[in-house]
Amino acid sequence: MSDTDTRDPTSLRTPIVAVLGHVDHGKTSLLDKIRGSAVIEGEAGAITQHIGATAVPLDVISEIAGELVDPDDFDLPGLLFIDTPGHHSFTTLRSRGGALADIAILVVDVNDGFQPQTLEALDILKRSQTPFIVAANKIDTVPGWNPNEDSPINATYDAQSDRVRQTLDTSLYEIIGNLSDEGLSADLYWRVQNFQRNIGVVPVSAMTGEGVPDLLAVMMGLSQRYMKEEMEIDVAGPGVGTVLEVKEEKGFGTTIDTVLYDGTIRADDELVVGGMNEPIVTDVRAILQPRPLAEIRTENRFEKVDSVSAAAGVKVAAPDLADAMAGAPVRVVRNRDRQEVIGEVEAELADIAVDTADNGVVVKADTLGSLEAMADALEEAEVPIVRAEVGDIAPRDISVASTADEHKERTILGFNVDVLSDAEQRAEIDDVRLFTDDVIYQVIDEYETFVEEMERAQQDTVLDNITRPARFRILPDHVFRQNDPAVVGVEVNSGTLQNNTFVVSWEGNEPTRVGQVKGIQEQGEDVDEARAGERVSVAIDGPTVGRQIEEDDELWTELPEKHAKILEQELASEIPGDELEALNMYLDKRRKRDPFWGK
Ligand code: GDP
Repeated sequence: MSDTDTRDPTSLRTPIVAVLGHVDHGKTSLLDKIRGSAVIEGEAGAITQHIGATAVPLDVISEIAGELVDPDDFDLPGLLFIDTPGHHSFTTLRSRGGALADIAILVVDVNDGFQPQTLEALDILKRSQTPFIVAANKIDTVPGWNPNEDSPINATYDAQSDRVRQTLDTSLYEIIGNLSDEGLSADLYWRVQNFQRNIGVVPVSAMTGEGVPDLLAVMMGLSQRYMKEEMEIDVAGPGVGTVLEVKEEKGFGTTIDTVLYDGTIRADDELVVGGMNEPIVTDVRAILQPRPLAEIRTENRFEKVDSVSAAAGVKVAAPDLADAMAGAPVRVVRNRDRQEVIGEVEAELADIAVDTADNGVVVKADTLGSLEAMADALEEAEVPIVRAEVGDIAPRDISVASTADEHKERTILGFNVDVLSDAEQRAEIDDVRLFTDDVIYQVIDEYETFVEEMERAQQDTVLDNITRPARFRILPDHVFRQNDPAVVGVEVNSGTLQNNTFVVSWEGNEPTRVGQVKGIQEQGEDVDEARAGERVSVAIDGPTVGRQIEEDDELWTELPEKHAKILEQELASEIPGDELEALNMYLDKRRKRDPFWGK
């Protein structure tokens, strides 16, 4: 990798491949299988371990893929697989506003089918417009499967019984159907003519290696056919890359694991790196690559190299990197104008920046890319963001969240981050809620559930403090006491009659207050309220039966205007139908005289 100066000034770089999919569907196993096959098939040292990536050269691919790949058909140098699978790392991998990975493999377990993270990965692939193929994994688990280690799919398919083939076909067509539900046209890869229009599905087993030759052949073909132009780079030019991870490394201080996708980075280069607050300008102290497997000793895992060219994964040691962010751009200055390079880094960072509002939730994510993905998802859910930052949840974030007026905004949503222990304590003291997960949908789901429950609880307390409408009638022959207080039997026609409410009677469109409820009894027991349909005896302080009220009179609870307004505008869907009916009747009466009453 350090012999770049012997290459053509412009040459074709290795396409960068990312592996995505739902947890346990076999992403890691598939990568391991490809790496393992490459070690076995290739000559010693033919595959190169990079920082965070593995390069599988064309000749090794062609050996694994057998007759499926003729090296003479290709001039791309091979494939560079990003070692950390999952869409988390994928979202980190950005270049100039797009995805850094040139192509992706979406792994789907044939037994398990589409799962939440499969959909999430699909969303990310669609949004970033990354070409991908689907690896329908674990075909060896089809009952009765007859395994043929490392065989191309065609051969092993022929070696299965009819029943096994049918079971597999059913699962595969289900996956194709799922893709179609997502608006994507897909088919088994050997039926796909145009991989730009149709997504190829490759049946594989990460366990037995079956279908892996096909997978590599399709990836290689796809890159060669549709991405060759994008792979043309000025190899010797100043390096451009993306920070994969910021890491403390013994003996080197803070380092950045970087995927270089253009140009060359040299040990004496000046760099501009995206930082938390502003671009960091620094001088490379060392460029590090993993030592070849055979030479690894724990204290000396890296070796210093003079230069590395794209596409590659490298570790860069340099001063002042503490504020560097995963997902941020890295650019070599070399012979260029430093200010111009800083401008480019700033522009890329601005492109990723999240729109914030005056009020909203605090969002934390582990990388710029995932922060952006979170922000997108929150925008879709119409949740405003007051602050969005890369990093673990710290006491400072709690302070920000605790200033929110609204309870639902005293919250922090964290994706793939830790909660620092002092932050956890602060959150409890300041009544700030934390939601963290490593699936974006889940964080947002949890938050939305919380908001719904909270709003319901708030409505319940509002309802507790509000006068409820009720219409009731004094029953004939049920006058138990004339006055001080009057005690009469009533039937509640609609609504909820509550103790201590004022009572009105209507004469025309004018309510007249006749007294106040001072006790409700149902079959001799004191109760706080009576619902529609119930018959109770009520003590009413104020009137005398035969003067202000009579047997058979219709009476109403007196509704304060403010309460009527809240009931109509905010709680109409919360109260029972009969109560709403009482409310509407009451409002009708009042509005005959004053059309704006309670509005
Ligand atoms: P990841 O979470 O997507 O990286 O999934 P892993 O690679 O860790 O795999 C999850 C589990 O599935 C592990 O127990 C693997 O051994 C198993 N597994 C993965 N691929 C295959 C496969 O092709 N066949 C079988 N039988 N098991 C598999």
